[in-house]
Amino acid sequence: MKLSFTGATETVTGSQYLINSEGKRFLVDFGLYQGPEPISRMNRREFPWEPSEIQAVFLTHAHMDHSGMIPWLVRNGFKGRVHCTPETFELCKILLIDSGKIQEGDYKKEFKKNEKAQKPLYTEEDAINSFDSFVTHEFKHEFHVDHLKASFTRAGHIPGAASLRLVTPQTSVIFSGDIGRYDDPLMYPPEAPPSADYVVMETTYGNRLHDTTPPEEELIKYLELIKKRSSKLIVPTFAVARAQLLIHLFKQVFHKRPDLKVPFFVHSPMTEKVTNLYKDFHMQLRIDESEVHSWDEFARFIHWKKESENVDRKPGPAIIMAASGMVSGGKIVEHLKELGDEEQNIILLTGYQAEGTPGREILEGSTRLKISDVKIEIKAEVHVLKSLSAHADGQGLHRWLDAISPRPKKVFLSHGEEDGREGFAELISKDGYEVEIPPLDAVYNLI
Ligand SMILES: [Zn+2]
Repeated sequence: MKLSFTGATETVTGSQYLINSEGKRFLVDFGLYQGPEPISRMNRREFPWEPSEIQAVFLTHAHMDHSGMIPWLVRNGFKGRVHCTPETFELCKILLIDSGKIQEGDYKKEFKKNEKAQKPLYTEEDAINSFDSFVTHEFKHEFHVDHLKASFTRAGHIPGAASLRLVTPQTSVIFSGDIGRYDDPLMYPPEAPPSADYVVMETTYGNRLHDTTPPEEELIKYLELIKKRSSKLIVPTFAVARAQLLIHLFKQVFHKRPDLKVPFFVHSPMTEKVTNLYKDFHMQLRIDESEVHSWDEFARFIHWKKESENVDRKPGPAIIMAASGMVSGGKIVEHLKELGDEEQNIILLTGYQAEGTPGREILEGSTRLKISDVKIEIKAEVHVLKSLSAHADGQGLHRWLDAISPRPKKVFLSHGEEDGREGFAELISKDGYEVEIPPLDAVYNLI
């Protein structure tokens, strides 16, 4: 089997691996590179294969940086199947449609200024058309694709997220996908797949240890501040998993400290859709179904522009949560434009801020930003919720790897910035693992 690292090696977006086995080609994940130029330009690169030559895609989870190129693949001639878990498919239906819509919208805007604007990679219609290619498999259920045996194991990162184990007649390899935390309040912990000759691992937080402060304590601190100042807590969030976790945590805090119960607004149509989907996913969650249903009672979803303007205008205290988590688009941009320049407000970043994103700029202290033509001034206090992440830290990744027994012959580290990959390589080489840090487009012959 030949394994090519055709995406997400030195970065955390654009996940993609190409497998050549017995003359056939397969993809593991096919995600979008997310970020400004030159990162997003990677989505337009030439591939050394035709979409029609790909036999099948194995998808570890629904996040766009893992699934976001699938409609492009189908639109350009892919005739195979996309294998994933049922929850991944449900989430993809929401996320891929949204991605198509955003691309069409961006193109229309750009076309007004420049008739040579780049066409979208795919449209909403292409996304919908791609859904016929999906086939779903439950965790731990072995299935055959051509001469490959495949199975998914729970990765604990977001609903449906899986590690993938592939077995050929000659060898076997595990793709970790994104690995969640062992102590996530909503998601069940990751499980290690049965052993394999090789392991390909994500290393987003490979060189870090998560803060162990309970997130509720951090939220209490910020709620006390905005209450004292009658100001706003502006929370950029990811629509999948992070938003639901925050709703759950705010609910816990309000229960524990009723004096801090302030109006809580969520302005993100996608978050609302995904939150509704959580009602169907409750079997995958550590909490009761009734708990998920109770979220609607205290988080108020904003639907109309007028409502949104009223929320911005009304005096605080209030929480306004909106996507996107790295501030690269979505309703959060409107709220930051209105409220970001008020010193008494607090912007609370709630997750990984990739290089080149507006979220990273805010984190690093930029006070003036331009996000797709919207000028934003930041005078509000900026904080990071340190104890929240949907990714395991170095220790968690190590624990996951150690649970694979017997040990693999080699561990490949990808899906991480340089520090994450090198830090984690050092950690596990000390423990006796043979480690490889593949550069982009590296090819390995696995036997
Ligand atoms: Zn992910």
